[in-house]
Amino acid sequence: MKHHAYVFFLLVLIFPTLLYPQNIDVDSLLKVLSQKNHDTIKISASLDLAWYYMYTKTDSAIFYAEKALNLSQANNYKENISASYIALGICYNTKTEYSKALSYLNKSLKIENELLSKNPDFSSYKRGLLVTNLDIGNIYFFQGNYAQAIEHYFQTLKLAEEIDFKKAICLSSGNIGLCYKDLKDYTKALEYNYKALGVAIETGNKSDLHQCYNNLGDIYFVMSELDSAKMYFTNCLNINKEDNNEPNLVKTYVNLANVYTKEKKYDKALRYYKLSLELSEKLDLKDGQINVNFMMGKYFSLLKNYKSAINHFTKSLELAKEIGNLQFVMQTNNELSLLYQNIGDYKKALQYYIDKSITEDSIFTLKSNEKIAGIEARYEIEQKDNEIAKQKLQIEKESKRRNYLIFGSIALLLLVILIYQWIANRQKRKNKETELALKLKKAESKNLKELNNAKSRFFANITHEFRTPLTLIMGPLQDVIGKIKGEDKEILKIAHSNSKKLLTLVNDILDLSTVEEGSPELNKSETCILSFLKRIFYSYESYAKIRQIGTEIVIAEGNDVLVNIDLAKLEKIINNLLSNAFKYTESGGSVKLLVDMKKDTVFITVKDTGVGIDEKDIKYIFERYYQGLNSENITGTGIGLSFANRLAKMMGGKISVESKRKEGSIFTLQLPIVIIKECIEDLGALQGGINIEEKADYKVKAIFADKPRILIVEDNYEMQKYLSGILKEYFHIDLAENGFEGLKKLKE
Ligand code: ADP
Repeated sequence: MKHHAYVFFLLVLIFPTLLYPQNIDVDSLLKVLSQKNHDTIKISASLDLAWYYMYTKTDSAIFYAEKALNLSQANNYKENISASYIALGICYNTKTEYSKALSYLNKSLKIENELLSKNPDFSSYKRGLLVTNLDIGNIYFFQGNYAQAIEHYFQTLKLAEEIDFKKAICLSSGNIGLCYKDLKDYTKALEYNYKALGVAIETGNKSDLHQCYNNLGDIYFVMSELDSAKMYFTNCLNINKEDNNEPNLVKTYVNLANVYTKEKKYDKALRYYKLSLELSEKLDLKDGQINVNFMMGKYFSLLKNYKSAINHFTKSLELAKEIGNLQFVMQTNNELSLLYQNIGDYKKALQYYIDKSITEDSIFTLKSNEKIAGIEARYEIEQKDNEIAKQKLQIEKESKRRNYLIFGSIALLLLVILIYQWIANRQKRKNKETELALKLKKAESKNLKELNNAKSRFFANITHEFRTPLTLIMGPLQDVIGKIKGEDKEILKIAHSNSKKLLTLVNDILDLSTVEEGSPELNKSETCILSFLKRIFYSYESYAKIRQIGTEIVIAEGNDVLVNIDLAKLEKIINNLLSNAFKYTESGGSVKLLVDMKKDTVFITVKDTGVGIDEKDIKYIFERYYQGLNSENITGTGIGLSFANRLAKMMGGKISVESKRKEGSIFTLQLPIVIIKECIEDLGALQGGINIEEKADYKVKAIFADKPRILIVEDNYEMQKYLSGILKEYFHIDLAENGFEGLKKLKE
């Protein structure tokens, strides 16, 4: 047991110095930790501090090693996680919490193996891995688990050889040797220790040399090859003296003393024991003092100097109790119990035996506790790892969720854009369709219009063609009616009257088609409007008398005024309204013309007390060819109002109607006018009331004296003949078939 304690003590102390610098500036490291620095810098500073405090303030070292571990895990820095585990492992090792230490070191081992398998040629990974293996081996060795210890030492040795790491080769070989020694396989024990010695001699490292000589001495000592043992312990003595390594000397003196005791060279032995005792007391090396006192106790027991033996054992026991070295407490109690047995003091022997047993129990309990603590520690560490894994999972989950959210939003946005584009495209398509439909409609309506125009033109042409034969029928009929008498005259009158109706119809159609062809040009001339209207109205007087219909003209206000207006169109409108009024008014009724002149508008109203218009008909009466229910027994074409309305619109005005069945109708024409000036009454009468027949008569009379010449331009032969027949009595007649010929004749 005593050997273990020393070996382990040396290994752990020496080994960190292999990897970590000890001359560090604590203040600057603490500054690094307190300031804002990158995590890698903080991890490195924490690890340096952990190693710095490892053997002096182990709890501080644990604090910094855990700090390094947490930071490394947060950043997933595998190398640093492993380094933190090693630091923690060694910390707990120092605190003799071996299970916890093993648990951390095994974790580091796992990571380092992973790292190395990924980068098999990376020597610093090998270096890390061999350190961990060596530390694990030491703990197993100390626990007496040699099989495990040897396995890890071999791993260390293999890796150390791969990177030619001399000190590690020496240490691992030596330790393998020590394992074999404890397993009592002295051949192998010597073999590995000689291997270690070879390397130590090669490097010349004093502490390594001491270790190797010491180990060999130990082996030969247990083999009872005392000369060899003495030789190697003497080598140790020389090196340590040379090196002035006093702690090692404490141990070497005892080893030599043990050899001399075995050789029964008691004086020499005592000398060396005393040297060791003095030096250990001088250095205040408790372990050394316990060990040397214990060995001296044995020595004096052997020589049956029980008093001295009891003294030394008691001293060893006190010190062992003081520093809590239970192994020595137990062993010393055991020795004392045996001693008292030998001297026959059984009471004391029993007392020490009980003490020995209690200590043994507490060692056992401690070991059990340590085992339990180890399990707990593993559980804690595992739990901590689980927590970290959970946190990682949570972070991953959150980042996944965040990613889902981002991708989801992008997808949604894309969807919205797609939908928007789809709607926009559809709208575009629809617009295009509507546009096309509109174009089609326009084209159709243009076609229809053209068709309509063509129809109107055709009507105009054909009705025009009707007029000539009608005139040729009516003219000769009129002549004959004037010449004959009796029954035939009445028959011809019927023929004449119907021809006249036909001519009116034809004229109506011709008028409408002219308007429909849409020549919106106004043929304006100046006239005194009231006089003009009066003349038209009065022309119905005789007809009204025959039909026994009363007439009245009402001028609302003001004098007659000269306006510039399309007289022909106005006359046609008024004629239409008046002829309808008379047509739909029965005998006993009345027709009124009301004129109301405003500043820029004239309201001309034709009011009758006739049959009135059915409510259902009113909205249709301005439509072409529409005839109301009231027109059943009345001749008509349904053209008049439509024609009048169009003319009114062409002149910028409109016609409105109010009517009630059986009460009468009121048609009002509203026209915009521009008044030029007021009319002098006579002039108005003259302008408005000139009779064309009178005018013609006047002109004819004027030229009658010397039978003037007249040029008739007419393409219809019969019409030519008819006209010549009427006019030849008063004129010299010239005939031309068309305008061109007519002009030629005029020049002649
Ligand atoms: P029509 O040749 O049939 O008179 P119009 O276009 O002049 O054609 O008139 C359309 C219809 O309006 C007539 O059929 C008639 O029913 C009605 N109408 C027009 N003027 C009057 C009116 N003064 N009194 C009653 N009904 C009228």
